[in-house]
Amino acid sequence: MEIFHLSAECYPVAKVGGLADVVGALPKYLNQAGHKAKVVVPAYNNKFVQENEYETVHQGQLRLGRFVFSYSIAKEATGKLGFELYQIAIPELFDRPNVYSYEDDTERFLSFQIAFLNWLIETRQRPDILHCHDHHTALIPFMVQHCLNYEVLRLTPTILTIHNGQYQGWFGYDKLHYLPQFDLSKIGYLEWNGTINPLASGIKCAWKVTTVSPSYLDEISNRANGLENLLRWERPKSLGILNGIDTEVWNTKTDSLVVKNYSLKDFKKGKTANKAYLCEQFHLNPDLPLFTFIGRLVGEKGADLLPQICSVALHQNQGKINILILGSGDTGVELELSSLQNFYAGNYSAYIGYNEKLAHIIYAGADFLLMPSRIEPCGLNQMYALRYGTIPIVRRTGGLRDTVLDIGDGGFGICHNETSVSDVIHSISRAIQLFDQPKTFDAIRKYIQQIDHSWDKVATEYIDVYESLK
Ligand code: ADP
Repeated sequence: MEIFHLSAECYPVAKVGGLADVVGALPKYLNQAGHKAKVVVPAYNNKFVQENEYETVHQGQLRLGRFVFSYSIAKEATGKLGFELYQIAIPELFDRPNVYSYEDDTERFLSFQIAFLNWLIETRQRPDILHCHDHHTALIPFMVQHCLNYEVLRLTPTILTIHNGQYQGWFGYDKLHYLPQFDLSKIGYLEWNGTINPLASGIKCAWKVTTVSPSYLDEISNRANGLENLLRWERPKSLGILNGIDTEVWNTKTDSLVVKNYSLKDFKKGKTANKAYLCEQFHLNPDLPLFTFIGRLVGEKGADLLPQICSVALHQNQGKINILILGSGDTGVELELSSLQNFYAGNYSAYIGYNEKLAHIIYAGADFLLMPSRIEPCGLNQMYALRYGTIPIVRRTGGLRDTVLDIGDGGFGICHNETSVSDVIHSISRAIQLFDQPKTFDAIRKYIQQIDHSWDKVATEYIDVYESLK
């Protein structure tokens, strides 16, 4: 089958979070299983685009209301990613360094979707499946079904995967005329709660809807930023498929970003070397348990509680633990986390920013990873941590519930029920007790590295979904 993946992010081309990791991995494994999966993302003005070679495969124009934009589509020349990568350049809209957070994001992602469909039409391509990811590409199912220009694609099956239902891409009726011509009686397929809602439209129009974990599918029927009733209604065509992780990228034996590689046989040595590096860089004591947090500093991740969690934990366990934070997001939280360094120097440090290499070294060198998330559609961090022998401390929600079982229940992680300071502090105390029992601690660290979350297994679940739509 020929499958097009449409997304705003794709690792290593452009990454903000887990969406990139999924879109950079699933197509590779679909190809290994004998299919032809291709990825289409915008051409941002970033390092990947500047440093790689492309060949232009198509040029055209698109209309957005009264604006006309020229676009060109270029294919990555070497095929080194394990799938064909196409990037759509629309200079006025995407010739910028960041993926999101511009005032004209509506115009940007709408143009991207229109350019993609125009390309298919103008070059007479008829793929077997269009797989859309999150709200940035969620208007494609509506457009192929209801826009006159794309009528020939009407029978092409569309799938929408929801990686994060909090962001829905809402825009007002004043921008409705940006969409290519459609029968106005179909407007209900675009609306939800008085606005145009791309994610809601994708949920209504896609042939199949998937979420990135089974528990998240259950949870969003009750809590989805206003889409609860719609998701309940569309439940019969919805399915939760737990994400995998790319075990070629996340491999302790070959990871070129860590300080020392390791295997199951010498993991203690390897983890100790990575931890020693971190402790030297951030002035921490390598003999103490190292707790860490990696991620976007936003409410969904429980990041607003991190400053208090850190100060209470460091105060209660004076000189007995280290905490290292890597993240960026809410500026108030960033400031609070930075300023804590003045009070707990020697036991606490924070790197505010995005740093892929440091993230890999932390997964390899830390002892425990904190994930006090309020909402976690799947969560990849806990799976990377497991694979690198770092014990996750998670709130039971979404994908965290599906992947981490508490030690007290015969499992391998530390779980709590609430995103609250007291629950996390209690979990940290349990972790310290575990660290003080080296035999059990090492046995768990060894066990978790062997848990299989590889994409080989998960890709077959997506293939079953594609087959069911043919
Ligand atoms: P989300 O997509 O909601 O941000 P996920 O757990 O699905 O969360 O994926 C997060 C991904 O982004 C992981 O690969 C994680 O290592 C990475 N990441 C998040 N923040 C940072 C950061 N500041 N520096 C490096 N990597 C980060």
